[in-house]
Amino acid sequence: MLKLQTETQTNMPTTIKTGSATITSFGAAEGVTGSKHLLEIGGKKLLLDCGLFQGNRKLSRELNSHFPPQVLAVDAVILSHAHIDHSGALPSLIKAGFTNPIYSTAATRDLCEIMLEDAAYIQEQDARFLAKKESPAPEPIYTAENAAEAMQHFITKDYNTWFEPVEGVKVRFIEAGHILGSTQVEIEYQENGATKRLGFTGDLGRKGLPILKDPAQLTNLDVLITESTYALREHDDLLTIEDELLAVVEKTAKRGGKIIIPAFSVERTQEIVYVLHQLRVEGRLKFDLPIYVDSPLAVNATEVFKKHRDDYDSKTYADFMEKGEGPFTMNGLVYIRDAEKSKALNQLNYPMIIISASGMCEAGRILHHLRNNISDPKNTVLIVGFQAENTLGRRLVDKLPEVKIFGIPVVRKCEVVVLNAFSGHAGASELFNNVKNSGAKKVFCVHGEPTSTAGFVEKIQNELHLEAQVLHTGETTTI
Ligand SMILES: [Zn+2]
Repeated sequence: MLKLQTETQTNMPTTIKTGSATITSFGAAEGVTGSKHLLEIGGKKLLLDCGLFQGNRKLSRELNSHFPPQVLAVDAVILSHAHIDHSGALPSLIKAGFTNPIYSTAATRDLCEIMLEDAAYIQEQDARFLAKKESPAPEPIYTAENAAEAMQHFITKDYNTWFEPVEGVKVRFIEAGHILGSTQVEIEYQENGATKRLGFTGDLGRKGLPILKDPAQLTNLDVLITESTYALREHDDLLTIEDELLAVVEKTAKRGGKIIIPAFSVERTQEIVYVLHQLRVEGRLKFDLPIYVDSPLAVNATEVFKKHRDDYDSKTYADFMEKGEGPFTMNGLVYIRDAEKSKALNQLNYPMIIISASGMCEAGRILHHLRNNISDPKNTVLIVGFQAENTLGRRLVDKLPEVKIFGIPVVRKCEVVVLNAFSGHAGASELFNNVKNSGAKKVFCVHGEPTSTAGFVEKIQNELHLEAQVLHTGETTTI
């Protein structure tokens, strides 16, 4: 008996009984943040993503403060990409005593290093803020030390290469085209002597985004766990993005104004820089405006982008790399880390482009730029990303004549332009086709607002006649 067990462990793939593999979601089941999906296959436990809950401060703090014991007991984490709502709880996991490996691509690891450090800084700041109001003073959810320790657990894997994070379960990263280093996850194991194939979309990207390769299609699956963020909504066409960006810049520059672009530091900022650079190279951007990328995280993220050139798409090579240039460096493009240099931009009174964070205008240096510039009708605020309800970004999208910045009312007279095409998520038809072409007979829909996820389930059932369902937080379902 003992001998047989040893043989099974070393030579044979673990064969599990039909129906004994399960999935349990502990986040991003009935919402879009806190992604954590636990797979139990033949007694082994894998956690797909380990994200932080975001949004309402009090509620997310509560949700982020503890882990269900099942999550702490996983044998390995498989990380789809570096966004904080997918990776941001890793330092908490480490703080709680997790010692097992975290698998990701190399670019995801490098982005996590800077993003988790930034997230820890925000947690520490948050705790200091709460300490003024609460007694006893609350501890930060995690610290920079926990974030640094989490990095020691990363094991990086190349795209399209099988590895075995736990005995009997093979995993492969497939391009997701969502942000640099992002992946879909392909999983194979034996069940009753037959190979069972599982897919997880992570956050599925879109064809034609600047810099990134297009998402690959998972095929021959038995089961697919798919995101559903924009399952019921199409995006604007990416093909016109250059023209639209150019029109905004030229119009504002002609009237002598500044273009203020609130943007996420990772991916969106680099995409905007890419398109502006391309417009320069093509000679279409006639105005020689200085471009300032004013966010330490964006500057650090750009360094990671420069390092992982193997992850660029062929268009980036054709547009820049083959000519001996990089997309992220050009005359007049200035990256600012230093806070004093950031403040000095307020004194400059000529047309320029300022790209700064946070993307939803809730914190960071963008607040100074907005306070100093939105009252001038010559200027433009260009919105290039999703703005959640109850954020300053959303109030700008809604074109309110007055908004509060640092608690003080500021009159808005500047123009506000919204470009929706930059979304990094697949739109409705891309998500639907991805399910259709995956071959899956059973589909679990996660990562969406409840109406979007439920609507997607219904669409898959009605139009593809597949078994599809929503996962409820903490509820274990047979795969
Ligand atoms: Zn994402």
